[in-house]
Amino acid sequence: MPPKKAPVVERKPIIGRMGTNLRMGIVGLPNVGKSTFFNVLTKLSAAAENFPFCTIDPNEGRVPVPDKRFEELCDMFKPASKVPAYLNVTDIAGLVKGAAEGAGLGNAFLSHIKACDGIFHMVRVFDDEDITHVEGNVDPIRDIEIINNELRYKDLEMAKKVFKEAETRFVRANDKTWKCDYEVLTRLIDMLGEEKKQWAKQYDWNEKEIEVLNKHLFLTTKPVVYLLNMTEKEYIKKKNKWLVKIKQWVDENDKGAVCILYSAQYEATLQGLGSDEEREAMIKETGAPSQMDKIITQGYKALHLQYFFTAGADECKCWTIQKGYTAPKAAGRIHGDFEKGFIMADVMKFDDLKEHGSENAVKAAGKYRQQGKQYVVEDGDIILFKFNAGAGLSDKKK
Ligand code: GDP
Repeated sequence: MPPKKAPVVERKPIIGRMGTNLRMGIVGLPNVGKSTFFNVLTKLSAAAENFPFCTIDPNEGRVPVPDKRFEELCDMFKPASKVPAYLNVTDIAGLVKGAAEGAGLGNAFLSHIKACDGIFHMVRVFDDEDITHVEGNVDPIRDIEIINNELRYKDLEMAKKVFKEAETRFVRANDKTWKCDYEVLTRLIDMLGEEKKQWAKQYDWNEKEIEVLNKHLFLTTKPVVYLLNMTEKEYIKKKNKWLVKIKQWVDENDKGAVCILYSAQYEATLQGLGSDEEREAMIKETGAPSQMDKIITQGYKALHLQYFFTAGADECKCWTIQKGYTAPKAAGRIHGDFEKGFIMADVMKFDDLKEHGSENAVKAAGKYRQQGKQYVVEDGDIILFKFNAGAGLSDKKK
């Protein structure tokens, strides 16, 4: 075998859809606080929307991703137009036990989850006698397992279905191109079954195997952010008997997933106050900050999304890309011609701009870097692309 070329960056493909228009879905049992949370998100987005582009579907929302660096860039450049990055969020109606077999419109809801790329798993930690719990009492671990089992059952059903074709092609027709599909699906069915009860993401799949998984977008490959919804009082005190147990459960069963403590009710209360000053006063009094910024940022990160900035007097903008985008691909986000005619990217780091105070000072300090086609764009790069506009035209800048 010829020696392998040294890779520029060793990077495994992402399990899930490619692209930048990805979304998080809010998933949980009924009456756990999903709508309360979604309403807070919607109002956040309404407050920030600076151009008349809103989705019509009441279950879909997009919220700006908060970023101090972007605010500082805008303060510095005072642009006519400011465009932050957005996180798309879908509110999915409550799942119940038996959803995978069709209970409570379960199949429809599960197909909505399939259309999402990551999950905000809303967990009811709050106790409130006035609010019915579908299972009769508050037990977050049991609830998490109910939801996660439904996702697993659905995946098992789908894996078995697609396995049939792989088996026919590989075993019966001896078509070797189906070998990897056959092996991946065999392993997956074993993992998802009642004995192991594992999720599709609980295995270190290699690149070829990930390609097979990505043909089917299994529910249990999706990244999850667990939102632990507490009562206002308990959130302020940061005390609840379930928290340690939940954290342990997540560490054992969904390694690497993020858990965020918050209170949907408290967020709604904060949002209901008339002004930022009143909100700040309340946060000072309770000592409990809002968690919305953290939730949005973690949701965005869970989707493997990041952005680079373009900054100037006309516009400061965050351009969403997936991790691993090379400079030409990132340029293609702005315009297809930028990718095709890519010459180079002038890249400035946000911290350097902050330290030196202006683009010219960054240049003078030798920190404005010219990067070529192989450059993998990093989160928060401030980029000016140079590209060839085509035959008969001289090089243009953006
Ligand atoms: P969904 O069915 O999951 O969408 O749940 P909702 O958001 O409609 O909430 C169900 C009920 O629980 C509503 O009456 C909410 O006001 C209430 N609720 C939501 N979050 C909290 C919370 O943090 N504490 C308390 N005590 N009640 C909450």
